[in-house]
Amino acid sequence: MNLKKFQAVKYRNIEECDISFSNGINVLCGSNAQGKTNVLEGIYFFSRGKSFRGAGDKELLKFGEEAFSLGIEFEDKRRSHTLKYIFDGKERKRYHNGVKENKVSDVLGYFKAVIFYPEHLQLIKGGPSERRNFLDVAVAQWRPEYYKYYSDYKKVLENRNFLLKCMQRGMYTDPAETEVWNEAMARTAAKINIMRREYLEGLEKYASVLQRDISGKRENIEIYYISDVDGENEEDTEKKYREILSENIKRECEAGVSLFGIHRDDIDIRINGKSSRYFASQGQQRSTVLSLKMAEGEMCFSSSGEYPVFLLDDVLSELDERRRDYILSLGSEKQFIITMCEDCIHSQNKNVITAEMGSFREYR
Ligand code: ATP
Ligand code: MG
Repeated sequence: MNLKKFQAVKYRNIEECDISFSNGINVLCGSNAQGKTNVLEGIYFFSRGKSFRGAGDKELLKFGEEAFSLGIEFEDKRRSHTLKYIFDGKERKRYHNGVKENKVSDVLGYFKAVIFYPEHLQLIKGGPSERRNFLDVAVAQWRPEYYKYYSDYKKVLENRNFLLKCMQRGMYTDPAETEVWNEAMARTAAKINIMRREYLEGLEKYASVLQRDISGKRENIEIYYISDVDGENEEDTEKKYREILSENIKRECEAGVSLFGIHRDDIDIRINGKSSRYFASQGQQRSTVLSLKMAEGEMCFSSSGEYPVFLLDDVLSELDERRRDYILSLGSEKQFIITMCEDCIHSQNKNVITAEMGSFREYR
């Protein structure tokens, strides 16, 4: 996948911009608050269908303005594409190759990107929900049907929790009332559990090679999926969920909430056998998240035959020279868009785009 252009009008702090990218490494260079992260956010918008910073359209709209637009031009291995998004304060319009599409899902899946954002370091030190969130987005990019299982699960969980809350309050007394939801939960949880495990197995394979290379063979990464249920296959996993749910139904009724299921799972990322959550240094956290993100790109390649565009926000600070050089050496077959405050990359093979107030100028 090769991003050619990013265009924005009255988006965030950008009045208007039209930035061209080349293959390999592109550096977005400028001082603090010039809009570098905003540009990455605008590009990634087309991969997720929303802001990765959790911003709504009103926040993306430039202060005091009424409408904004975002657009990208890119090529995949088959053809060129354009995607455009317009928000005029009320209506949202989406276009693929100039043709209006109605739903977000109609424009998702064309443009694939992986983003590294400093807050993603929470993936290591933060709580389990940060790691589950990473996993859910990554697995859905790898196997799009994951979205459906995941949203089915969420609905089941909501209904089951409602019922358990009623039980807790004595509105229902027979735990058998939950059986239909136990069944549905076991079925959907098993699917998700298996897909996550499969994904992590692949991810670990790639991430461990990357981590070894990035650290000059000093660090070995292992990834473990932590769950109440570890089945041999989907059928066995479903059976085990069913057992665990029926065995613990009394406890859950007392708690008024679902105590078991994939919404409680976690990932243990170990560096040289030690949990990174407790023992990784700042540089190690950064390089581990980077290895995971690069591995996410490899998983995407394994399922679609195409590398996503790598958007790396302020990634090189805190990395020593060897780790930096290693990251940059990956840009020969993949496209990188890297933001930084000053141009500290000495590679010949790059495109530097310098930010000025509200606009970006390109240097080759
Ligand atoms: P840094 O190097 O510090 O990370 P940056 O270049 O990545 O800076 P951005 O995070 O892209 O900076 O933000 C640039 C500016 O955009 C910020 O000052 C922010 O207040 C401003 N901004 C964010 N949303 C809007 C908006 N809706 N309208 C106008 N300005 C906005
Ligand atoms: Mg920034």
